[in-house]
Amino acid sequence: MSVTHDLMAQAARYLANTYARFPVALVRGSGVRVWDAEGKTYLDFAAGIAVDVLGHCHPKVVEAIRAQAETLLHVSNLYHIEPQVRLARALCEHSFGGKVFFCNSGAEANEAAIKLARRYAKARWSSDRYEIVCMRDSFHGRTMATMTATGQAKYSQGFEPLLPGFKHIPFNDLPAAERAIDSRTCAVLVEPIQGEGGVRVPDDDYLPGLRQLCSEREVLLMLDEVQTGMGRTGRLFAYEHWDIQPDIVTLAKGLGGGLPIGAMLANETVAGAFVPGSHASTFGGNPFVTTVALAVLTEILDARLPEHAAKIGAYFLERLQQLTAQYPFVKEARGKGLMLALELTVPARPIVERCLERGLLILVAGDQVLRFVPPLIIGEPEVDEAMRILGLVLAEQA
Ligand SMILES: *Cc1c(COP(=O)(O)O)cnc(C)c1O
Repeated sequence: MSVTHDLMAQAARYLANTYARFPVALVRGSGVRVWDAEGKTYLDFAAGIAVDVLGHCHPKVVEAIRAQAETLLHVSNLYHIEPQVRLARALCEHSFGGKVFFCNSGAEANEAAIKLARRYAKARWSSDRYEIVCMRDSFHGRTMATMTATGQAKYSQGFEPLLPGFKHIPFNDLPAAERAIDSRTCAVLVEPIQGEGGVRVPDDDYLPGLRQLCSEREVLLMLDEVQTGMGRTGRLFAYEHWDIQPDIVTLAKGLGGGLPIGAMLANETVAGAFVPGSHASTFGGNPFVTTVALAVLTEILDARLPEHAAKIGAYFLERLQQLTAQYPFVKEARGKGLMLALELTVPARPIVERCLERGLLILVAGDQVLRFVPPLIIGEPEVDEAMRILGLVLAEQA
């Protein structure tokens, strides 16, 4: 029996059955490549779902891990933690100021945002302004609150009753937002570019319009940048494309370059609604993860990876767009920076499987959308290589 088959049998026996895993066990990575237990190599355009922004085992990350492992892994938030403060300061200095709460995942970052918005509204208005306006086809996580905020029924099926206080409207629809926001609304929660929902980029007037609307109605604008943040879309944060200032931003995925860390950034006024005891996380922002995340952020900035992602992403998108003319079942290429997608008129999963067989890891985003979120360090040769494999698979399909 191969190593992989033995592992698959044990996984079926011992692991909760929550993932439709491919029959591959990845054991090692370097740069933009990973290797499986049988020694086969893959070009990684999945990047742990938009997590491995610096690729695998980046020397700066490895060094930060090594040094901090010998210094201090974890102490409680009952004490001051230097790398946590330094990371918070760096995030604030490169965003819109304010204050940061650290946690361990995207869902938790959104939980923190939802709790802060409710608490801020309670303090500010002393009324029942607790409703959060969310978008259809959004994705915000798998906890009860973030699953409720998520605008896709498949994620909440069987888990009812959902949390009260969430309302869903179509994404990229300003008039719908105008109608939905009322005297009960405390915040609007939106991904600047929808990720899991199919890599949907809104019209250019959408986020500025939403910002203006939220300001007029005195409602918080909360951006879920868990997937779009950390340089992914060609700016450090996606909201910079539209030159707006959100009240709250949530981060995770790329923030730790592979370590589990989440963060919620809130402007000074809103952040003031949290006081000692309001919210907490045992592991949140511990010395180990914040040291590594600071090394990741430093490298993203020093290597100008957002600019690089914009440039390589434009090249990649152009190559993807050529496929729409070539194959009738390729409907549209879209995205920003290195968060790109190809919408098909056929199921996407079999294409992903055939790319995997040929040594390319990619993702889906919904049933008929291929998603590409490679490490931000890729160059044109890697794009060409991915396009060659994808081309072979699509030719097969045709
Ligand atoms: C992945 C994702 C989340 C959830 O993050 P977890 O770390 O899996 O909890 C939330 N929002 C967006 C936009 C995401 O892409």
